[in-house]
Amino acid sequence: MTSTAYRSCPLCEATCGLEITHRDEKVIRIRGDRDDVFSHGYICPKGSTLGKLDEDPDRLRSPLVKRDGKHVPVTWDEAFAVIEQRLTPILAEHGSDSVGVYLGNPNVHSMSGILYPRVMLRMLRTKAIFSASTVDQMPKHVSAGLMFGHPDLIPVPDIDRTAYLLMLGANPLESNGSLATAPDWPGRLEAIRARGGRVVVVDPRRTKTAAAADQHLPIRPGTDALFLFALANVLFEEGLTDLGDLEGHVAGVEEVAVAVEAFTPEVVAEACGIDSAETRRIACELAAADSAAVYGRIGTHTAEFGTMASWMVDVLNVITGNLDRSGGAMFSNAAHEQPRARRGFQVGRWMSRVRNLPEVRGELPVATLADEILEPEPGPGRLRAMITIAGNPVLSTPDSDRLDEALASLELMVSIDLYLNETTRHADVILPGASPLRRPHYDFAFSQLSVRNVANYSPALFPLPEGTPDEWQILLRLGAVLSGQGPAADLDVLDDGVFGLMVGSAVADPSSRIHGRDPEEVFAATGGGRGPERMLDFLVRTGPYGDGYGTDPDGLTLRRLQASPHGIDLGPLRPRLPDALCTPSGMVELAPDLLLADVSRLLAATNRKVNGGFVLIGRRDVRSNNSWMHNIDVLVSGRERCTLQINGDDARRLGVAPGQMVKVSSPAGMLIVPAETTADIMPGVVSLPHGWGHDLEGAELSVASVRPGVNSNRLSTGATDPISGNAVLNGIRVEVVPA
Ligand code: SF4
Repeated sequence: MTSTAYRSCPLCEATCGLEITHRDEKVIRIRGDRDDVFSHGYICPKGSTLGKLDEDPDRLRSPLVKRDGKHVPVTWDEAFAVIEQRLTPILAEHGSDSVGVYLGNPNVHSMSGILYPRVMLRMLRTKAIFSASTVDQMPKHVSAGLMFGHPDLIPVPDIDRTAYLLMLGANPLESNGSLATAPDWPGRLEAIRARGGRVVVVDPRRTKTAAAADQHLPIRPGTDALFLFALANVLFEEGLTDLGDLEGHVAGVEEVAVAVEAFTPEVVAEACGIDSAETRRIACELAAADSAAVYGRIGTHTAEFGTMASWMVDVLNVITGNLDRSGGAMFSNAAHEQPRARRGFQVGRWMSRVRNLPEVRGELPVATLADEILEPEPGPGRLRAMITIAGNPVLSTPDSDRLDEALASLELMVSIDLYLNETTRHADVILPGASPLRRPHYDFAFSQLSVRNVANYSPALFPLPEGTPDEWQILLRLGAVLSGQGPAADLDVLDDGVFGLMVGSAVADPSSRIHGRDPEEVFAATGGGRGPERMLDFLVRTGPYGDGYGTDPDGLTLRRLQASPHGIDLGPLRPRLPDALCTPSGMVELAPDLLLADVSRLLAATNRKVNGGFVLIGRRDVRSNNSWMHNIDVLVSGRERCTLQINGDDARRLGVAPGQMVKVSSPAGMLIVPAETTADIMPGVVSLPHGWGHDLEGAELSVASVRPGVNSNRLSTGATDPISGNAVLNGIRVEVVPA
């Protein structure tokens, strides 16, 4: 007998609904759930492989401890005993800041991964926190934090209603979208054009998305900020600005007008490689459109002016009157969203020890992680131990060879992961995480970035093997060790304590829907048992659509989510300003001082001459998902995907034939990789995908190691955007020669 279950896919930001046919614990088929309220049956090749991931014999099923250089299976109690025995003296001698934590991207796709690392970190109290955010989207958090008062108050393009979409550095037809959650980008972009709208893509490469747009505008890598400043310049100079309904709610318009004054289309033309008339035309189109949204993604963020570009994206949305209105750039309102205080946002509350880089959102740039481990000076505070949670920074973060060396030098490394991979091979203890089909799912992260308000909960499809703890229990137990309570601490008591604090702070908060209620009553009335589902029930019930613990009997609860396997549609995005703003002024701060202070650095970039040579950019592929899914045979079979794309004319000039091996080098490292010649990339630009390089000794990825590819991060130098600390991965100067 087979059964059918429905759940949302946790692999990427699109959150597609899946229909899973299974027999007992064996997946027979996965296809898109046609009744899903958001994805309506859309699915990509990755979503159909969740069963293969669950069955993968390389996926870890028991903890491993490294003994005499080899990882051997042990019981959970043995693993935690080793952690306690080896971590306690490090903490006692060097303090909690000697233990670093790296959080990988999969954490944001997991309920426990979102909620419980922060509990563990509170128990550890280290300032040495690193994550994949600083190789990805930190500039957006910074600009949103400074402009709107909260780093998670990020506007998303209202693509289902917009008349004009200007996208920079984004390739959602391969990535399935990012910082803008929308299943079926191909269909939604096509719909813009079908209703008479226009899609313009600015990118150094004619990506799949660019090819599907009305216009593709090639731009030199790393110069998006200049182009965006020039668009704003035209709007101010031509008198085309209009704040619309935000009039009276925006501070700093004059300051921005002054800041962009020098960035005329003519001044930036050579650096960007875009004719000034074209820039003027796009600015006028933006201003004239019935509604328009400017959207910049990873290509704009992983650049030396990432925060400036991210800032100017939303400046353009504001000054064209398109922020917070239908068809413009809008704010989601997730079912679990809680009131946010008007505290504003700060960066640099502490600095990294070696390179003096600023803290952002409580974390330090991962580009300096190797420095913090390897460099004895200046002062005390060198990292002696690391905990990595669902991350593979050896492949996904800059200057990989040096980080590989740094992790090998640690006194102790503990990892929570599905695999013995290129990073966890350094771990002294590996604790296996749960297969995605064996944990419940609700998208805490991406329902806050969704182009439509939707709530979708999926219970675990299959049970965890007997004796295997849930991920929240692993993290709490680790927290107990880190805080000196030991691995035998009662996790139920700890979890009740954590949940009690959550309830207590809500009833004390005047803006909470349960302000003043009896915390014990709320505690007792919350469903979901222990762990993340109890927290979900609480957050949804106290959220904007919740039942408020009785104040709105028709409101959302976990039980209602459980009864809605295809999700609950909460409607299109609605205007939320000024109420949602968290700036102390209650206004949109269009001209934050920190960003104005960086304008002169950007202006200096207009004088850079294009002097030949190559610059490297990244690349997405719909079958790949950072470094995660390369051990799934159907996703890595077929043509070689890890190639260096190079313009055909450049290849001919170098004497490189299609498929020939080329040597690519930067000051950080060197790679040998097959060349893929194409007319779809600008001359002088080459492109490599990231997340590859599965040929390191000690990793146990039997499929990935057959077609390992090369690790593009061996070429990245550790340079950062100085405001956000985000790594500069786009626009790296490289040399290319036949191998
Ligand atoms: S697009 Fe993303 S969410 Fe949808 S099926 Fe593919 S991996 Fe899953």
